[in-house]
Amino acid sequence: MVALHPGRHFLQIPGPTNVPDRVLHATALPTIDHRGPEFAELVLDLLPALARVFQTHNPVVIYPASGTGACQAALVNVLSPGDRVLAFDSGHFARLWAGLAEQLGIEVELVPASWRRAVDPDLVYERLRADPAHELAAVLVVHNETSTGVTSPIDEIRRAIDAAAHPALFLVDTISSLASIDYRPDEWGVDVTVAGSQKGLMLPPGLGFNVVSARALEAASRATLPKGYWDWAPILEANTHGRYPSTPATNLLVGLREALALLEEEGLENVFARHDRHAEATRRAVRGWGLETVCQDADACSSTVTGVVVSEPHDADAVRALILERFDMSLGAGLGKLAGRVFRIGHVGALNDLTLAGTLCGVELGLALSKVPIVRAGVAAALDYLGTTACD
Ligand code: PLP
Repeated sequence: MVALHPGRHFLQIPGPTNVPDRVLHATALPTIDHRGPEFAELVLDLLPALARVFQTHNPVVIYPASGTGACQAALVNVLSPGDRVLAFDSGHFARLWAGLAEQLGIEVELVPASWRRAVDPDLVYERLRADPAHELAAVLVVHNETSTGVTSPIDEIRRAIDAAAHPALFLVDTISSLASIDYRPDEWGVDVTVAGSQKGLMLPPGLGFNVVSARALEAASRATLPKGYWDWAPILEANTHGRYPSTPATNLLVGLREALALLEEEGLENVFARHDRHAEATRRAVRGWGLETVCQDADACSSTVTGVVVSEPHDADAVRALILERFDMSLGAGLGKLAGRVFRIGHVGALNDLTLAGTLCGVELGLALSKVPIVRAGVAAALDYLGTTACD
């Protein structure tokens, strides 16, 4: 028998995230002509607002695509067959991006790295110094590794690239950090930023983004991988008239305008602080239960997702299944080598104190019912923190 769950489902995976009603309603407006004046006005409004939220003065390319599409777009626009790139095995999504590059005929130097710590800027420096002929065309880093809940210091990695005096392009995946963790592509000298709609931007899945530096545009003019659908040039040209060369995801773009308005009304600083605070409350809950976070580096723990380790013989997927069945809450699965060993609590996007408190209650009850040995003090620790620090 299918369990009946009155009330709202708790979608506490680290994306897709809960879509605010205002955004949902905007996406449900009648579809408009993507070659008409109303659409052109939308695009010409949207692009500057998008740039403000991306904290950039560079162009932002929007694709009807998932994040993986935007990852591919970043590669095919700036690289050529046989180019070498540097990547770090820092988690499931970092591996996927490296694998995608290999499939495209790019030679990937995948540096072994911990899945429990940030990408080490010293390691970036060493690897680049070991390439005096400057054969490495790009450095690929995932800002916030969604599979582990570890955030890498993009500003420090930029400084490491500069210290090595290496001309490699810097490509960064911000799919689970954009609009939730402070990220400054211009200030940090990132050449291509990859993002998606379904996490901090609080939209349904379906939009992928590239922020493109002047150096990246210049590299694109020389790069020879087939760009096909992903080619920035015709999109940027059409954008100057409020158009796209192929059919854009019109309804999602209407939703995006609303989501950007929500973020600007709250203020980006406040959005970042809210995510930091909810992440801290979550980590206090995990410590209160006597469990470990995947992240072992206190300075690198993610503000959007917390990975929680479940020790054998207990199975993290069984805990998640019980929580879904009993409490109608979806949590993130362990991915790649963490499958079954880890579950992930998403605290990204449209979230407030009480939604987080409810989430942590569901996790504590689910762990106890699954007979995972815990101390029933996690929720209390989180509530103490939420109750004594400033509200949203
Ligand atoms: N990179 C990161 C950091 C992600 O979190 C994800 C998805 O969650 C991806 C890449 C892949 O994006 P998508 O599943 O939207 O294609």
